Order: sequence, then C-alpha cells, then structure tokens
Amino acid sequence: MTPNVISVLEDATTREVAQVLDRHRISGLPVCDGEGHMVGLISEFDLIAKPDAHTAGQAMTRDVISVMEDTSVDEVRYLLVNRRIKRVPVLRGQRLVGIVSRADLVREIALTWVCQVCGHTDRGKDPPDPCPKCGTPSGFEPTVSPPVGEGAEVPSRHCPACGQELPS
Ligand SMILES: [Zn+2]
Repeated sequence: MTPNVISVLEDATTREVAQVLDRHRISGLPVCDGEGHMVGLISEFDLIAKPDAHTAGQAMTRDVISVMEDTSVDEVRYLLVNRRIKRVPVLRGQRLVGIVSRADLVREIALTWVCQVCGHTDRGKDPPDPCPKCGTPSGFEPTVSPPVGEGAEVPSRHCPACGQELPS
C-alpha cells in the first residue's frame, strides 16, 4: 500500500483536479469530504468525459471499489485482476488511509521469497540463505504467484485512464 495518498476535496474545481493530476503525473485520485472520508474517485477519463462538470464532486465516479486495511494481499490481487481496476483505495472505517496499485503488488512479488522445503516466506531484495526456519541452504525461490500485469487489459468497457469499469 502507498500511504498518505494525494486526494482532492469534493468542491475542488475540475481545473484544480487537472493541475494535481498533471503535476503528480497520475491518472486518477480519490475525492474526500472535509472529514477525510472518501466519497469517490476522479480520473483523467472523468475530466475528459464530463466537460460540463465544475467540481470534483460533479465529475467523480461514486461507485468505487475499496478495501479495508486488513484486507489480504490475495483479495486485493483478486479485485485488481477480476474487476480489472488498476488501483484500489484503502479505508480505515470511512477514512482514506492509502491506495494499492498494480505496481504495489508487482513490488510485493519481486520482494517475496518462498522456501521450497518448508514453505516459509521472507521479504527482501535477495533470498535468505539459509532458510531461517528449516535451515535449508539456498532453498528459496521467488513466489509463484502470477504477476498482476497489463496482460489483464481488456480494451473496451473500462476507463482507459483509471481502469474503472465503465457504466453500460
Ligand atoms: Zn525452510
């Protein structure tokens, strides 16, 4: 998860949203109310598709898939693959605390090692040697989880900017 994610207020103008997206080179970001509660997600696509909207609250997508802090990586992986979204906001109660992107999961795969003998998992740039649990030397392999990559793209029915499913 990437904590302290950038967000905008509901009443931010669409021009302000465009400036934030441009400045941070991101394609979408959460919209929060004054209490820090997430009320939607606004993307490049929303800005382009809704030229009559004046504020983030008018242009944002309200039906946003989100997860809680204690949601497992596997559940997030499932959402990113099967709902074909590129990022999912992480909430504590209604409060936005971070965002998990496909890049976060790819990093997780890159840093996770599984002992082929006892199944112990460890995190780090290089595999531990020997396994701290069973002592097997060099028994670690990268995790076999399939990477959550761009291969899962479907060209239509999904916002090209943020990956959110488009209303039919
Ligand atoms: Zn082991």
